[in-house]
Amino acid sequence: MAKAYGIQDWWPGQTPFEICLGAILVQNTNWNNAARAIEALRSRDLLRSDGLAAARTATLEALLRPAGCYRQKARRVREFSRWWLDAGEMAGLQHQQTETLRESLLELHGIGPETADCILLYALGRPVFVVDAYTRRLLARLGFGEVAANRRGYEMLRQRVETLTGPDVVLLGELHALIIEHGKQRCRVRPLCDGCPLRGGCTYPATELIVRQRSHR
Ligand code: SF4
Repeated sequence: MAKAYGIQDWWPGQTPFEICLGAILVQNTNWNNAARAIEALRSRDLLRSDGLAAARTATLEALLRPAGCYRQKARRVREFSRWWLDAGEMAGLQHQQTETLRESLLELHGIGPETADCILLYALGRPVFVVDAYTRRLLARLGFGEVAANRRGYEMLRQRVETLTGPDVVLLGELHALIIEHGKQRCRVRPLCDGCPLRGGCTYPATELIVRQRSHR
């Protein structure tokens, strides 16, 4: 995939805190909308945990409107900012174990495993794999089997991939970013399998052919 799509070098953001905000704001929307909300915060000098923790609800909601679900996201961003401050910001967070951080993030309003792992991997440099819908779809098509989209399925898949990659933060980040690029360009709901760089190891085209042949009988 790296040969086909090039190095992705994710995640956009000028500081670890900004990367965390991006992970929250991109929930249920695309990156362009999340980026517009981040720029709105930047224009008001609010890409700071102390500023966001103290911001008025109406101000926050207005600035986050481009990212959609702005009421929920305003609450999530404020809670996250308080958590970040209470933990002693980057300096304090660096002293915590990854699993402790993960559990603590998952207790925050509106932060599920995917968002928590994006924060851990891209902002805090922890060796975790992010499982998203693109990943589940791709791995099922490659023959890893369907994995339920619940917390247990998420953990299973995350741990399987982390065992394969080892604690390599750069590799885990690139892998996640490349899977997303692959999911957007080729492995879509209706995949474009001809010329796919993974076709040699993928069970999906042959399985699909059998299914189509049976349906034409
Ligand atoms: S061969 Fe098709 S289904 Fe398999 S990974 Fe490539 S695009 Fe996806």
